Amino acid sequence: MSAAFEVVVIGAGLSGLAASAALSGAGAKVLLLDSKPFVGGRAYSYEHPSLQEEIDCQHVLLGCCTNLRALCDSAGVADRIRWYDTLTFLQPDTPTRTELSVRLLPAPMHTAVDFLRAPMLSLTDKVVVARGLMEFVGGYPAADTESFATWLKRTGQTDRAIRHLWEPVIVGALNDTFEHCSTKYAGQVFHESFLKSAKGGRLGIPTLPLSQFYSFVAEQCVRQGTELRLQQAVNGLTKQHDGWHVQTTEGSFNTPHVVLATPFQQTNALAPQLGVPIDTFRNAPICTVHLWFDREITDLDHAVLLDTGIQWIFHKSRIRRWPADRGSYVELTISASFAQLHQTREAILASALRELQLFFPAAADAKLMKSGILKDARATFSVAPGMDAYRPAQATGEAGLFLAGDWTQTGWPSTMEGAVRGGLLAAEAVTASAGAPQRFLQPDLPPTGLMKLLSRQ
Ligand SMILES: Cc1cc2nc3c(=O)[nH]c(=O)nc-3n(C[C@H](O)[C@H](O)[C@H](O)COP(=O)(O)OP(=O)(O)OC[C@H]3O[C@@H](n4cnc5c(N)ncnc54)[C@H](O)[C@@H]3O)c2cc1C
Repeated sequence: MSAAFEVVVIGAGLSGLAASAALSGAGAKVLLLDSKPFVGGRAYSYEHPSLQEEIDCQHVLLGCCTNLRALCDSAGVADRIRWYDTLTFLQPDTPTRTELSVRLLPAPMHTAVDFLRAPMLSLTDKVVVARGLMEFVGGYPAADTESFATWLKRTGQTDRAIRHLWEPVIVGALNDTFEHCSTKYAGQVFHESFLKSAKGGRLGIPTLPLSQFYSFVAEQCVRQGTELRLQQAVNGLTKQHDGWHVQTTEGSFNTPHVVLATPFQQTNALAPQLGVPIDTFRNAPICTVHLWFDREITDLDHAVLLDTGIQWIFHKSRIRRWPADRGSYVELTISASFAQLHQTREAILASALRELQLFFPAAADAKLMKSGILKDARATFSVAPGMDAYRPAQATGEAGLFLAGDWTQTGWPSTMEGAVRGGLLAAEAVTASAGAPQRFLQPDLPPTGLMKLLSRQ
């Protein structure tokens, strides 16, 4: 299609990048603006001045993230994602590992063999987990009214099943406590990634620092004709009789279509007339601890750490295939890190090192060369019960004004896939309003094996 319309996309996070890639690919003249000096938004990396390293907070994706994967594919960066078929769960002070791998069995049985063998759960735990999972075999609730805390109680989950399975998976994926996660999105995580197909649950980890990784997507937008302007903040948006007047730190211009791909706070500041209920949205933090050791402390690329404050270890030097003699660069991730927001960096570091040694005794002998701590207070928004009603559609009541972002109605929680979906849905709404409707959203992965009969989703 050759579209003759112009669009200004505000925000070069994943949502704005996805919208720009779709629209410029469809022939629209796109101007993409961001206040920051890099693309990627919250999925960013930056050169840390005192550490002299480019650091980011590790972001992972899953095989079921069809829209994010398609975006990476078309930008030519898909081969910079390392895919894993096994999740390793470690308990402190014991060398026993639980490994959940995808097997060559028809879904939903593909993880059943490892689940039945898992030493981290007792037989009673496995029975209640299996009974609980049965609720998500067919799909997940359409309504987001029930909290996952209520679901855990209703289905009689044991304390160990909660600590060793539900918590690492759901708090890791939805980044809040069970009271602030709805059963709908918790069920979606299990249905799409554990049950529907083996491919859906594969874990993908970018092997490049995130801004480098997503600069491939920005370059593709530019190749398609998008004009990208970084360090240009938009500070005013005024409706005119035939479009919008955009005021930026570098000047102003008029445009018929605007996609606001900004978080809800900035969206509300620029378009208060939309009445985004910002006080209803709840941000949840993520804290990451970055450690550089003089030698390798484990042969694992990543693992879930049970019964501690740290949820995941990402062994970034191995994921990025650094030579072993460069030592270990590890990142420890603490999701829903409300407590750490108020702790000093020294306290967080001391506790993380103490916990790390419970799992990897070699860390006690290794020399810590340097360390850094990142706290992101607004990492995600919480898909608490009832939030769906407050997430706006991409088309607004204002002609020519569209919303994107992980917090809009995407059908997904606050994730990179959700952000990309929001951007693509906004792009679809723009083309429809310009009289040249296009579809950009990718279909979900199809169910495989027995799930072809069982899945309604
Ligand atoms: C520490 C951390 C870990 C995470 N881990 C994962 C993970 O493992 N997997 C996963 O899927 N998701 C993860 N997420 C969530 C994921 O990063 C977000 O859901 C996603 O990146 C949101 O993208 P977005 O485009 O909707 O918003 P943003 O990334 O917030 O993009 C908005 C952009 O708008 C720009 N902007 C704002 N105001 C203006 C203005 N006035 N003018 C111009 N530009 C403006 C901002 O600079 C920003 O670039 C994580 C997030 C964090 C912070």
